[in-house]
Amino acid sequence: MNLILMGLPGAGKGTQADKIVEKYGIPHISTGDMFRSAIQEGTELGNKAKSFMDKGELVPDEVTIGIVRERLGKPDCKKGFLLDGFPRTIAQAEALENLLQDMNSSLDYVIHINVPEEKLVDRLTGRRICPECGATYHVEFNPPKTAGKCDVDGAELIQRDDDKPETVKNRLEVNMSQAKPLLDFYHQKGYLVTVDGDREISLVFEDIDQKLEKINS
Ligand SMILES: [Zn+2]
Repeated sequence: MNLILMGLPGAGKGTQADKIVEKYGIPHISTGDMFRSAIQEGTELGNKAKSFMDKGELVPDEVTIGIVRERLGKPDCKKGFLLDGFPRTIAQAEALENLLQDMNSSLDYVIHINVPEEKLVDRLTGRRICPECGATYHVEFNPPKTAGKCDVDGAELIQRDDDKPETVKNRLEVNMSQAKPLLDFYHQKGYLVTVDGDREISLVFEDIDQKLEKINS
């Protein structure tokens, strides 16, 4: 079961990834984790990636794709994988196709968790943080017992600059313009499965699960 998970910030990708991994026993491979472990293991590609990151530069595609190739070749990927955060561009998507072909494999689905932009803005701007203990809340989905105050220590909750509406909207715009060509690409290839993410977590997973059962049977 070879999967890619796509969705904008706030769409609930992490939560659904956990559920997919738990049920299907495939590894959740996020770009960040992949880089971190390659760097930790001190592989040649890991060291290369680190040299770019240390300079604050973008890691070039050939290095990133090499790291993906190494990661997908590991034994825990025998049953498949759930890629998250890669590919980000059409060039990377094409490289992934070639890489899988070399491995006599192919993609099964690209799962896109779709949530309307205004809902994402609500989700992302509702986050509140306790400056004392770091506890996080959400005004709607996980409110503190007393509005605006931390349950643990009673401190006044704050909204991080990252969670302010203008910043959130900008971040979403940037992400959307990156994702659009990829979604089109995978749609044309027939891999794209769009799931309505504007529902309860369990319902979203049920939907994904039904699609995946079809590959498994
Ligand atoms: Zn606190």
